[in-house]
Amino acid sequence: MLNLVADGVWVRQSAWVLSNAIAVRGEGGLILVDPGIDGSDLSELADDLDRLGIPVVAGFSTHPHWDHLLWHPRFGHVPRYATPAAARAAGENRERGQTMAAESASGVPLELLGRVTPLPAGGGPIPGQIVEHQAHAIGHAALCLADRGVMLAGDMLSDVLIPLLDASRPNQVGAYETALDRLSAAAEGLQVLVPGHGNIARGSEIADRIAADRAYIDALRRGEEPVDARLRPDATYWLPDAHRSNVEQARGR
Ligand SMILES: [Zn+2]
Repeated sequence: MLNLVADGVWVRQSAWVLSNAIAVRGEGGLILVDPGIDGSDLSELADDLDRLGIPVVAGFSTHPHWDHLLWHPRFGHVPRYATPAAARAAGENRERGQTMAAESASGVPLELLGRVTPLPAGGGPIPGQIVEHQAHAIGHAALCLADRGVMLAGDMLSDVLIPLLDASRPNQVGAYETALDRLSAAAEGLQVLVPGHGNIARGSEIADRIAADRAYIDALRRGEEPVDARLRPDATYWLPDAHRSNVEQARGR
């Protein structure tokens, strides 16, 4: 079910890692941000969009990981964008993304995965401000809709996932610190934060999210193992492995 979370911003959550597919009203129609995850999710999202009665005019992927690069024929043959760095990475790693999608999700149209092109200068049909940074994945971007008080954060600032460092690139603690600085500046005055996975944060909860990620990264910076409420027993099964990989990467830097 699509829930209206702010003026012209709708969210549908999937069971898989509480992934949030987001529809944003732009000029001329809807922009679909990170639609996912299973084929059944995608077709239910298409049903919801039909009911909404606003055409999809473009897609946007916050970063080049398979669960943010999905699409369905019923969303239409429209341009799909990512930052130039993310679009390049999505193209280079398309086969790997398809393999991961096939392993983790069922009924996904694999041939449509990762078909994103570089966002044109000025953002093209994508409304708002792109906040690009180097944490989590190459070319990762948050989308800030300041006039509606909303930030779409991609895989940052989640209440169910710890910060996930990009294991393939160096100095990710520093990259995360810089990203949190940028996101926290961009979040000033906003009322609604939609993470790629997890629950929507409202009002003062946004600062709490930033503080939780900062505390985790600060502990890594000190060479300590972060203690984090998100590493609870019912956390998604691969989270402890990701946590160990974060700690090892931080200590090895
Ligand atoms: Zn994700």
